[in-house]
Amino acid sequence: MTARRVSILGATGSIGRSTVAVIEELRAQGKEIEVEAIAAGSDVEGIAELARRLRPAFVAVADESRADDLRAAINGAPVAVAAGRGAVIEAAARPADWVMAAIVGVAGLDSTLAAIDRGATVAIANKESFACAGPLVRDAAARSGAVILPVDSEHNAIFQVLLNVERVEKVTITASGGPFRSASLETMRAATPAQACAHPNWSMGAKISIDSATLMNKGLELIEAAYLFDLPAERLDVLVHPQSIVHSLVHYADGSVLAHMAAPDMRTPIAHTLAWPDRARVSTPRLDLAKTGALTFEAPDVHRFPALQLARTALEAGPKASCALNAANEIAVAAFVDGQIGFLDIARLVGEVLEQLERKELGGFQKSPSSFDEVRAIDQAARKTARAIADGWRH
Ligand code: NAD
Ligand code: MG
Repeated sequence: MTARRVSILGATGSIGRSTVAVIEELRAQGKEIEVEAIAAGSDVEGIAELARRLRPAFVAVADESRADDLRAAINGAPVAVAAGRGAVIEAAARPADWVMAAIVGVAGLDSTLAAIDRGATVAIANKESFACAGPLVRDAAARSGAVILPVDSEHNAIFQVLLNVERVEKVTITASGGPFRSASLETMRAATPAQACAHPNWSMGAKISIDSATLMNKGLELIEAAYLFDLPAERLDVLVHPQSIVHSLVHYADGSVLAHMAAPDMRTPIAHTLAWPDRARVSTPRLDLAKTGALTFEAPDVHRFPALQLARTALEAGPKASCALNAANEIAVAAFVDGQIGFLDIARLVGEVLEQLERKELGGFQKSPSSFDEVRAIDQAARKTARAIADGWRH
């Protein structure tokens, strides 16, 4: 692997910190990796501590009200600092040859795009960028020559075993099933945010943990896979695999099925994108299949997990519907975390938003959005509708 200049967007989060861990391990091996920029939402203390360790040239937080706190926390270190949404975009636009896009939610779209637009290699964890604007993100990369490397473990797995796209019959995305895989609907109805966040196999940020509990995460991943690999919905399948060892499978025309396996640790896909097309040596847990024992698979229960079907329907309806689904889900997850709605209401709210928008504001979902402004308008409309419905449910 050659010397690299990297930036990390969402550096203080779960993926961000795993990225830092990989970089520090490779630096300890003598690899020359310079950090150009790091960015976060509002965690000033977290980003300042990372700045001391990584010595980046530029540090950004999105929360403008914390500009002075950031300066104070950086405390005279020789690094440029800035706050506000523009600062996060600047972090992405600065000259790093590899950018980790790991901001959670649509909040990550503009910075992900800024890195893509200047033709960087962009490791994308921020799946919501794909869910809300898949075709436009893909077009932007084609225009600039940016290389997009998927970080999401399933998509990274598919990327690694996708050898001959024209001969692919089907792709199966695996799902752990989340904390409620075998829970009753009664248990799920009463689930608290803490229970929904207690993922059996992965330690992740709150939003994706709740998405994993509803299986909306898998739904967003269907959409992500469709746009990343240019596959129609009918050639994408979901299979529940509670051990999270097989990260996805690609089925070929001759009956061969190539699976990717690894211990469930995000440092593995992150290291893959950082070293690609080479491979790095990282101290992630090694797979010991004799110890793991049985690997089991089952079909997802669409009755208890309606989010999966909602996402599939949105994918089939087109990119506008996917954008609305993603936005409504962000509002629904936030409302659940705030105690405003119950766990099962998350998918119910998303379904209701899609129905209302399709009927009224969007005049159908057939046409693709032609610009990012149009994407933002759909995103905002879906958020507004979701908030209004959730407020109505509370009273
Ligand atoms: P997280 O909540 O742990 O971290 C989110 C990061 O984004 C933090 O650094 C936060 O400060 C930053 N952020 C939040 N709002 C921001 C804003 N408006 N502007 C700038 N920065 C902002 O989340 P995570 O689990 O690390 O997930 C990050 C992304 O990666 C998500 O899109 C998630 O779906 C995806 N992903 C995560 C995992 C995982 O294992 N955690 C796996 C696959 C994909
Ligand atoms: Mg995933």
